[in-house]
Amino acid sequence: MIKDPKHAPLFIGSDIYRTSSYGAWHPLRVPRVSTVMDLSRGMGWLGPAQYVQSPRAKAAALSLWHDPDYLGALALAEQTQIASPEVKERYGLGTTANPVFPEMWRRPATSAGASLLAGELLAQGGIVYSPAGGTHHGMPARANGFCYLNDPVLAILSLRRSGVRRVAYIDIDAHHPDGVEVAFGADPDVLMISTHEENRWPRTGALEDVGAGTLFNLPLPAGLNDTEMAEIRDRLILPSVASFAPEAIVLQCGADAVTEDPLSRLTLSNNSHWQIVAALMEMAPRNLVLGGGGYNPWSVGRLWTGVWATLNGHLIPEVLPPVAQSVLRGLEFQNHRLGRNPPDHWFSTLRDSPRNGEVRPKVRDGLARLCARIQPEF
Ligand SMILES: [Zn+2]
Repeated sequence: MIKDPKHAPLFIGSDIYRTSSYGAWHPLRVPRVSTVMDLSRGMGWLGPAQYVQSPRAKAAALSLWHDPDYLGALALAEQTQIASPEVKERYGLGTTANPVFPEMWRRPATSAGASLLAGELLAQGGIVYSPAGGTHHGMPARANGFCYLNDPVLAILSLRRSGVRRVAYIDIDAHHPDGVEVAFGADPDVLMISTHEENRWPRTGALEDVGAGTLFNLPLPAGLNDTEMAEIRDRLILPSVASFAPEAIVLQCGADAVTEDPLSRLTLSNNSHWQIVAALMEMAPRNLVLGGGGYNPWSVGRLWTGVWATLNGHLIPEVLPPVAQSVLRGLEFQNHRLGRNPPDHWFSTLRDSPRNGEVRPKVRDGLARLCARIQPEF
């Protein structure tokens, strides 16, 4: 438990995530951030002193990384609710992955606003959680992979403005953070570690990529288990962060590498994520934890609420109190088979049973290659 309220972690949220959707068939039709807010409040873990209302970033602020013409096209598409064939071709707007929807500018500008603000709030140190962040596929002048903007990149640039030079960016989403790698893959002052499922979109993030020597990509086979992730944590993530000695850590904590997620074939339990959060928060004076992928409303809500509990040192009860259970019982997963008969533990618990197993040769070999590149001092 963090006793001094001045140093308590901050949660940046907004109700825009409760009231907007990418459309009835899009993976991002499901509620995510609102579940984390409701569950955390239901547990008594999110009082007004720790909650920060996310600002909505203006185009001028977003042009720190994004192309002004693209930002103009995005704002106009929201206003007109149309993306012309030219706009679709040039900017990736109005596609299946990045559809036109009523809040297509305001919603990403809000999660980007949270990341820009986080960089300021962390100037003197601390812990900030923005579960709406983690849109790691966004490109400077193009929407990509459900992401219209790239808030992790903006967070790191905002930290830089606060005088922070060396940043460790750790990404445990099931997908490779191609947009973040475009921004910082060749920057020796950014340690970038990504664990992601092999042969999965966007198909970037090869084991062989070295960038400026501080880029580590670990593609992983389907069926990744908690034992393998613990090995990756203890042999790659924690030792390289320790050697790099960052002034800030940005963790993209996508929730799509768990068994319940419909978009990946990785099979972690949420314990893996929470253990990484707990270990990393001790390793730098500034910590920003972002969300990311996560497309099953129950697994994403449970995982990210557990992240907030971990950041605050709250004990996660084995069985949730009725008020928290009612949040989970109130969720729907429309147009998906997983929504038909959810098992009871999706309602009554936050913590999954551990999913341990063997460390397979493929994981061991990839890990050995990357571990050989860890320098005593980067
Ligand atoms: Zn993902």
